[in-house]
This record gives sequence, structure tokens and C-alpha cells, in this order.
Amino acid sequence: MPAPNIDTIVSLAKRRGFVFPSSEVYGGLGSAWDYGPLGVELCNNVKQAWWRWLVYERDDIEGIDSSIILNRLVWQYSGHEATFNDWLVDCRKCKGRFRADKIVDQKCPACGSNDWTEARPFNTMLQTKLGAVADDDPTSLAYLRPETAQGIFINFLNVQTAMRRKLPFGIAQVGKSFRNEVTPGNFILRTREFEQMEMEYFVSPSAEHSKLVDYWVEQYLEWFGSLGISRENLYLYEVPEDELAHYSKRTVDIMYRYFPEREKPWEELMGIAWRTDFDLSTHSKNKLDEEGKRINPDSTEDLSYFDEPTKQRFYPHVIEPAAGVNRTVLAVLMDAYSERTTDKGETRVILKLSPQLAPIKAAILPLAKNKPEIVGMAKAIKRSLQPVLRAVYDDTGGIGKLYARQDEIGTPFCITVDHQSLEDEAVTVRDRDTWEQERIKVSDLAEHLQKRLKPYPVATPETS
Ligand SMILES: [Zn+2]
Repeated sequence: MPAPNIDTIVSLAKRRGFVFPSSEVYGGLGSAWDYGPLGVELCNNVKQAWWRWLVYERDDIEGIDSSIILNRLVWQYSGHEATFNDWLVDCRKCKGRFRADKIVDQKCPACGSNDWTEARPFNTMLQTKLGAVADDDPTSLAYLRPETAQGIFINFLNVQTAMRRKLPFGIAQVGKSFRNEVTPGNFILRTREFEQMEMEYFVSPSAEHSKLVDYWVEQYLEWFGSLGISRENLYLYEVPEDELAHYSKRTVDIMYRYFPEREKPWEELMGIAWRTDFDLSTHSKNKLDEEGKRINPDSTEDLSYFDEPTKQRFYPHVIEPAAGVNRTVLAVLMDAYSERTTDKGETRVILKLSPQLAPIKAAILPLAKNKPEIVGMAKAIKRSLQPVLRAVYDDTGGIGKLYARQDEIGTPFCITVDHQSLEDEAVTVRDRDTWEQERIKVSDLAEHLQKRLKPYPVATPETS
């Protein structure tokens, strides 16, 4: 049973320190959110799981970390300056401004009028200025990147040469991106500042690109499964041709059931796009247009690739799985949410997070906090576990309350130190999902927990 709606998660996330509304002391800032002590751990665990899965466990992917602010020419030649637009219309009656593609039946959502202006493009790249220059100096204009992908494309040759790579291979990057959304909203689902996990997989122009899109869709479905997201809450959307981005020949979106309470419950979790050779060729000095003119007179490099076996030089094609950290975190939280009724008829929230994602792996709880020997032993156990896994010590309530608090934040194991522990050097380990308890020797504890903290299985990826 996943969360009934996003609001349930918003409230849990604030109460328990996962996500706070940003700038709250000044009345907030629309659609900006701050990640609290548990939220930052959850985000980091998602990013680490992704990085391990692609960069470490596979042999065909390298990682990089490029600048957020790139030369403005990158965005000119990538097509973002000209085409990264939302189309806006103004209501002549109430002066409200809306995204043209979100208007239903020509009706203004604010006043019901149907008297609209013509649609105008609004570029959604966030602008900034570099250096100490006059406000109106156009040479100082720069953008906060709207995607991490371009930082990968302009480094294609650097990575390929430095790491002696042959096709096919991929480059992965995690980082912040920015889009000046006209209508952000729905908690951390759509925000102007967000974090991406993008991978560009470079292949020959003669590769079977559509099959590779399917391959990466399957890989990601399995990966989301390993994060605890149920397959029945995911849905594949083949993006129709007239909705494709300017660089894409085929895109499949993996949608998540973010709105189970609505008639249309699906919203994009990530997309897998065949970006053709558009990106590498557009940034290359040697690429010519149909009339034989250089398409990019500003570039100083040619990002083509020489294929030894066929003795051919070409611009590699790209298959791009682009996922959002924040959207993944929201899907993980919604899918992990569950409720359970106790013997006394009380409703308890249990966050059944995959152990690898849980912000805290083990909570060490003393049964009597006024007994120095018990407290001392509990704190010593916490310290001994810390090098192996994230553990916390907590004595701020009765044991029932402490268990409930840990269940609500998804801690897989509660470890109780009691009077008996002082005699037998053993503790009680309580399982979050079953509430079953077992007695474990302190000397075996670290190994016992590590075995049970293994990630959910993910099929071993094959290099295609
Ligand atoms: Zn209106």
C-alpha cells in the first residue's frame, strides 16, 4: 500500500526532518525545498546507489562532474537559447499568465474568460551575470545549466582520450540543474532547482538505437525495483513524435503513480531518449551543413570518433537515460509508505525503505536510561557499529515510542540493550517490517546486520 497522496508525504517529510519548505522564516519561496538531516541522507543514498550501479558495477561507464555555468556558446549551439521555451498566453480580462499547453477548453482557469493574447515564447533557462560589469552588458550573460547532459557532451573527447575508451561507452554525471518553470509545484516533483542523474551512452551510428532505448528502459525498471519501487506503480509512455524534444528521434518516459487519488495518476519519473548525433556534431568545428558550410564556426574541437575496425570517422549517437534525484526520492518515499494497526488499535506509519536507502540503518536504544551501565553499553555499541553502518543512539522516550519513531523514518533495525545484556553480552534486534525480535551476541552484531542490509536484488547488467 503506497502513500494515498503526495500530501501525506509532505507532512511526514516535514515532521520527521526529510524535507522542509525553503526560506520559511521569510514566508517561503515558491517551489523551493530544503532537505533536512534525514532527507540529505536519503538523497545521498539514492545518488550513491545509482553511481555504484552504473559507474562501479558496469565496465563501460565513466563518471564526471562538470561546471554548472558553462560558456554561453554551449547553450547557443545545443539549441537551448532558441528552443528551450514554454509558450505563454495572457488572459485579456484578468491579466493572468498561463502556459498555453495547460489551458483546457480555451478557458482561463482564473476568471473563465476565453479572450487570450497570442502565445509567446518564454525561455526557461535561468540567467545570471558573470564578472563586475554593467547591468546591460550583454557579454556578461550566462546561464545556470538546464541539464547536466551538455557538460558531458563537451567533455566527450577528453574522457574518451584520457580513459582510452572505445565505443560503446557511457559518461555519467550527478548534479544540480535549473529551469525557470512557469508553473512549478507538487512538492519536490517540479522545482526550479533540481538534481539530475544523467548518463550519455555513446554508440555507433549503425547501432540499433531503438533496441538500445528498450534495453535501458529495462535496466532502469530493474534498478527502480532494487530501490523498492513496485513495478505496478510504474508505467511506460512512448512519447509521440510531435512531442519529442528537438534533439530526439525516440523517447520513452518511465512514469510513476504520483497521484494515486486522481483519474490520471501518472507523472514522469525519468526519460530515456535517443538523442541521435545531434549533440556531438553541433559542438564540432568540422561538421558541415547541407550547403557545405560549417554549422559551428565558434568551436575549436571536432568531437568525432575514429572507429578502428571499420576505419571510419563519425559522430557517435547517444542514448540518454535522464533521471531526477528528487523525483526518485519522492517515488521511493511514496512506495515505502505503509500503515499498520497495533494490538491496541493505534495506527503506526512504517516507512519500508530499501535498507540501502534508509537514512539510518540501526538505532541503539537503552531499555533503562537511568542505568549508567546500560547507557554506557548502548553508546559503546553505537560507536562500534558506526564505521560499518549509520547508527544512532536514542534515549528520548519509552521503548514503544522509540520503536514507533524509527519505523516512521524507515530504520530497518532497532537494537535494544537491557539488564540481561549486561550479563550475557547480547542484545535484542527488532525488525522494522515484521516487528519480530531476536537475541544476538554483541560480538556478532555488525556481521549480522550487514548481511541483512544487502540491497534488494538487481539483475546483473550486461554490457551490450
Ligand atoms: Zn482570466
